[in-house]
Amino acid sequence: MSTVQNSEQDAPSGRLVGLDDSFARELPELCMDFVADSVEAPATLVLNDDLAQRLGMDPVWLGSPQGTEVLVGNRVPEGAHPVAMAYAGHQFGNYSPRLGDGRALLLGELLDGDSERRDLHLKGSGRTPFARGGDGKASIGPMLREYVVSEAMAALGIPTTRSLAVVSTGESVMRETPEPGAVLVRVAASHIRVGTFEYAVRLGGDELVRRLADYSIARHHPEAASATNPYLAFLGAVIEAQAGLVAQWMLVGFIHGVMNTDNMTISGEGIDYGPCAFMDRYDPATVFSSIDHGGRYAYGNQPAVAAWNLARLAETLLGLIATDPDEAIELATAELAEFQSRFQQHWSNGLARKLGLESPPSDGPLFEDLLSTMQADRLDWTGTFRELARTLRVEATDDDGSGEAPAAHSEAMRQWIGRWRAELEAQGRPVGSTAEGMDEVNPLYIPRNHLVDDALSDATGGTLAGFEELVRVLKDPYHRRDGCDGFTTPAPEGFEDTFRTFCGT
Ligand code: AMP
Ligand code: MG
Repeated sequence: MSTVQNSEQDAPSGRLVGLDDSFARELPELCMDFVADSVEAPATLVLNDDLAQRLGMDPVWLGSPQGTEVLVGNRVPEGAHPVAMAYAGHQFGNYSPRLGDGRALLLGELLDGDSERRDLHLKGSGRTPFARGGDGKASIGPMLREYVVSEAMAALGIPTTRSLAVVSTGESVMRETPEPGAVLVRVAASHIRVGTFEYAVRLGGDELVRRLADYSIARHHPEAASATNPYLAFLGAVIEAQAGLVAQWMLVGFIHGVMNTDNMTISGEGIDYGPCAFMDRYDPATVFSSIDHGGRYAYGNQPAVAAWNLARLAETLLGLIATDPDEAIELATAELAEFQSRFQQHWSNGLARKLGLESPPSDGPLFEDLLSTMQADRLDWTGTFRELARTLRVEATDDDGSGEAPAAHSEAMRQWIGRWRAELEAQGRPVGSTAEGMDEVNPLYIPRNHLVDDALSDATGGTLAGFEELVRVLKDPYHRRDGCDGFTTPAPEGFEDTFRTFCGT
């Protein structure tokens, strides 16, 4: 892969020059040259200064009229080669042979502060040849939603695409009602999806998949290159990355909502935050998406769906894994079988950390019993782990300084806490520092649905103060701050029964 040209010397002004186009150069079959629609009255609604700086861009310039023109797609940065990427995908289990960037563009690639290659991508920038029936546009609400969710994910330390800016276009976009239009500027390790492989194998067979896989290995999983069977190792690396990702989602109560194969990356970053949501009261059957009637993408189904999607990826790699088809299937099947144990390991290690344990308990269903008690007691996923830490602290000091009465635990929960205390003791975990450690890994502030909803409807109406405050609070999810208590309360009882999320497309 060639080096990109956005070094300090090349872009002293942070003006986004010298974007590279390695994907378009190396895989021209998988994209189409395209430029964004021009819009009349772009205005930056939100700009991510910290991310801009990490990318070596000057936030002041990005916020200027010239910067806004680039961010909204009106002006192509000097030397850039924007393309719409092609991909296919299994949507709710059904194969769509041609999806692609219907309303998005890959503007180019640059190197961030860690010299990692990052895609710069515009979403909502106009109809491309992949648009099918769509208008190629996006409205403010869903783009701000992706902004706040992706930035919350990043603050939680979970692999994710990032959001650099949301720019309103001044246009009206027709959804159920007319809504203000907007473009999201997204930053990603890459936009290569499982669906990119599904498209490639049908278009160009093993030769094209090999080039796509080689490119993906070099960019995301370089260790696979030196394995005895690099393409099998590549499959294993994607399986590991996705097992870790889905476990981390579930440890924070996140439901992606539309885990189609075109919404699953090869890098292991979460992408395409449409009808996603964080669950308040724990129930593995939780589904919020208005289009997910069968609950295919329910909270508790996510590991199984990820495994299913990875099987679709494996199918595209069979011809590279071995020349004998039976052998290829055998090797790929064995690799896919690893998903469950990899996921389980990430999940139970993560749950152990959330509960202040050194490692998962060696015997007994301690974790399962916590989950069933939380479900029976309709406990808030996020709040419960903070409350458990507080229980320890109160026990140690008789007063945790918060002035709050301890939670009224159910009998089942009191019994469970007793068993958990015994496990902490058995693992030699001191009460005080264990509680502190738990607070370091259990977020206090997450994008709760009712808060996000309120902030987005205000923003759509033209008032951004609530959205800005939400973004600010979620930037530091772990440390309690004065004046932020309203962000820690679950939605009122009954809210989740009727709450629905939408694709906004
Ligand atoms: P999504 O559900 O947003 O991940 O999108 C699935 C597919 O639909 C992708 O190919 C998108 O590019 C395309 N798409 C979604 N919304 C639009 C739109 N408004 N105009 C054109 N294409 C769209
Ligand atoms: Mg998508």
